[in-house]
Amino acid sequence: MQSYKVILFYKYLEIENPAEIVDRHLEWCIANDIRGRVFFANEGVNGTVSGTEENIEKYKKHIAAFPGLEDIWFKEDFSDEHTFKKMHVRLKHQIVHGDLDDVSLTNGGKRLSSEDLLKFYEEKKDFVIVDARNWYESKIGKFRNAITPPMKNFREWKKVVDVDLKDYKNKTVVTYCTGGIRCEKASAYMVESGFKDVYQLDGGIFNYIKQFPDTYWQGGMFVFDERRVVDPNNDEELKYVAECYFCGKPTSYYINCHNLDCDRIIVSCHKCKVENDYCCSDECRKSNNRRNVYHG
Ligand SMILES: [Zn+2]
Ligand SMILES: [Zn+2]
Repeated sequence: MQSYKVILFYKYLEIENPAEIVDRHLEWCIANDIRGRVFFANEGVNGTVSGTEENIEKYKKHIAAFPGLEDIWFKEDFSDEHTFKKMHVRLKHQIVHGDLDDVSLTNGGKRLSSEDLLKFYEEKKDFVIVDARNWYESKIGKFRNAITPPMKNFREWKKVVDVDLKDYKNKTVVTYCTGGIRCEKASAYMVESGFKDVYQLDGGIFNYIKQFPDTYWQGGMFVFDERRVVDPNNDEELKYVAECYFCGKPTSYYINCHNLDCDRIIVSCHKCKVENDYCCSDECRKSNNRRNVYHG
């Protein structure tokens, strides 16, 4: 069996003509059987792709050949197969959809390495840790004691900071997200809002759980690809933080209800998913607008 890799990368840098790159990049990826999604914008690049180990090595060289991307950080993991079905390359206004256009990246929180976050916990440092992801991501996994704001999407971050986090301005605060990209601006907004001691987890959860599974990360990591979730821990107590919506068994798996008019995310074990025909309720099971193909 061939071994595959999945990689995450991003960089904020000025790209003069991102529209010119998009089509060529897509062609290159298709020719080299790279799948996933890559966004280009004036403010930079953001991508997650999968491919055979060999093709991923080629891809990394290809990306690093762009002026300004020589030092880009690829976060990597192994996989048994492609984690995406198709390749999408898109031109975007922002590389992360949010409401933080007006913050300055130079105000971003201090970078905290995975080792140092581990140390924060081990040394029982007095700090607040905040999940910068959406509610459905933090529902299936989070860092110990993390504040998990009930965000529907990243556009709500300002409100979270202004309302939910306002009492922590004088505390040491650590923000984290999947690969680090959301925290660049999320932490900058906190600094600009008067928070005194802000850190952002460098490389995100993705990097932390590779280095330190079975420590302070609890449950699974939500991913936006075919794997749906990555379960890094072996320790039974750290394996799952969520429960199946139907039977209550610990799991970190989830599906979107297959009634497209509903489409809500429900945590469900594999057995209940099948038994309930990938739907959240009787009503949804009876819908005429269900997905044609099972997904998840
Ligand atoms: Zn179940
Ligand atoms: Zn439903």
